[in-house]
Amino acid sequence: MSDCIFCKIINGEIPSTSVYQDEQAYAFRDIQPAAPTHILIVPRKHIDSINAMTDNDEQTIGHLFNAARQIATQEGLAENGYRLVINTNAHAGQTVFHIHLHLLGGRQLTKMG
Ligand code: 5GP
Ligand code: ZN
Repeated sequence: MSDCIFCKIINGEIPSTSVYQDEQAYAFRDIQPAAPTHILIVPRKHIDSINAMTDNDEQTIGHLFNAARQIATQEGLAENGYRLVINTNAHAGQTVFHIHLHLLGGRQLTKMG
């Protein structure tokens, strides 16, 4: 998607601080961190949101969680813990319509809701 900011981050058109990448996923630090560690993990394939995923995307989305596990360990968050979040549409506050898994950690997080 040529007008998607996360596609532009993945292809290097927009700079980012990358923390992990492989053939399916790319991860980088959030520009407006909500916690001491705030990383976005995105599929290289453009998918608008969880609403738009298909059965064929199951492995792609599952892969994001496996990447998150590795990044959490790399960032020293595994033992104390961390939160993984995917916002979908307006009520969840989704602002970028390219699926992304938020990885948040580095402090005690408050309850959700
Ligand atoms: P959402 O609100 O859609 O779940 O999350 C979008 C996230 O992308 C926000 O946390 C926002 O700070 C982050 N973000 C938006 N634009 C950019 C950007 O150009 N670079 C980086 N690194 N993060 C961005
Ligand atoms: Zn995209």
